[in-house]
Amino acid sequence: MSRTPKALAAVALGVTAGLLVTAAPAGAAARYTPGAPGAGDPYFPDMGNGGYDVAHYDIGLKYDPATKAVRAVTGIKARATQNLSRFNLDFLGPLTISSLKVDGRKAAFKRTGAQELEITPSRGLTKHRSFTVEVAYSGVPQKVDDPALGVSGWVATPDGAIFVNQPIGAATLYPVNDTPQDKATYSFTLTTPKGTTSLANGDFAGKWTRGGLETSRWKMRQPMASELAMIAIGKYDVIFGKTKSGVPNITATDQQLKTPPALAKDFNTQTGDVQDFLAGYFGRYPFSSTGGITVKASLGYALETQGRPVYDLTRRPGTIPRGDLLAHELGHQWFGDSVTPEKWADIWLNEGFATYAEWLYFEKYTGKPVQQSFDETYATPADDDLWQPKTADPGRDNIFHPTVYERGAMTLHALRKAVGDKAFFKIVKTWPEANKYGNASTADFIKFCERRSGKQLDALFAKWVYTSGKPSL
Ligand SMILES: [Zn+2]
Repeated sequence: MSRTPKALAAVALGVTAGLLVTAAPAGAAARYTPGAPGAGDPYFPDMGNGGYDVAHYDIGLKYDPATKAVRAVTGIKARATQNLSRFNLDFLGPLTISSLKVDGRKAAFKRTGAQELEITPSRGLTKHRSFTVEVAYSGVPQKVDDPALGVSGWVATPDGAIFVNQPIGAATLYPVNDTPQDKATYSFTLTTPKGTTSLANGDFAGKWTRGGLETSRWKMRQPMASELAMIAIGKYDVIFGKTKSGVPNITATDQQLKTPPALAKDFNTQTGDVQDFLAGYFGRYPFSSTGGITVKASLGYALETQGRPVYDLTRRPGTIPRGDLLAHELGHQWFGDSVTPEKWADIWLNEGFATYAEWLYFEKYTGKPVQQSFDETYATPADDDLWQPKTADPGRDNIFHPTVYERGAMTLHALRKAVGDKAFFKIVKTWPEANKYGNASTADFIKFCERRSGKQLDALFAKWVYTSGKPSL
């Protein structure tokens, strides 16, 4: 994510009361037990669930911008990792479930706590076996507006909606195992009134019109964390291009922003060029398509939604994202999207690298050396709040604190000084490849750097990411 400064409105999140539909026969025997209602992240204990691993989400959505209402069916393919008598999905807000099936059979469910959808299948689910879930639901989805973390989830706009999820928005639209640790492939089938454009992550997989409705299909074929799922519906000008290295490059500009056509074309070209430039440092681009979407949605940030970042340009209509912002969100495709932190406390591994991608961009495109970017940031006075939170454990409300970004990037530069350019750029290129489509922690990164450089680096990382206060050089 990359933020523009803004005041965060503190609006309470609407949560529906639990809804008990039918009585639930329990799993077959005592050895079938309930899956955990959380995935164990200390910052977001309700997020994610235990006992299964999702392989694929198939989101079928009909949306009417006039009424703001959705009708949806989400299909899930998953595999049990324990004998399950019941399991949870995360599902947030006022949408009403009309039908829920597990393996094609009607299953009992109730909604409890802040975001738990507790599902009891008619028979227990056996460890290592695959199963399917199909949930039909409808209503007017509500965004999350967290006092510390800002707006995410389903955000209605005058002519459509934008769906961006970092960190807790995904469950506002679909039932999900909402933890970055459970990545899955996705397909999106999006139906809107004719003349409205629907975009999502990944590859464009067809479009048809029927009875005044238009349906577009998108596929994210590489594993994706739910926080990176994205949908954009509205009036968009779309450009289907290719990067110079041959990656399909689909960019879209929100017609509300009145972007001149020549600039919209530049947005497409620059996206390809900056991505190819970063691939020189970070290795082969990890996804089968790329692009970007500019929106007018008062989000106050740009977000690295997988394969196709979203840039909120509400405050800069008629423009396109700056090159350093493209570098930030495209840098995330390797750091954050392909390699995703194990816990939210590790988010500096995303933002530090994305900020370093900006510094590399400045060096290449404006002549400002990376060292100068470091020096200017390091010059921040010692009593500044930048130095206070611990970079690798900033606290739940500080996951988007400047320390995560700027001290994160400075940490990488301090690493570069310690191990030398050769080892550093080898680390930068091999880390995303070694952890492709997976998750990794700060401890994993430190171990990796020590192996690649042959140097003992505990003290360096202790000083830079695990300790408050301005580190000495
Ligand atoms: Zn970012």
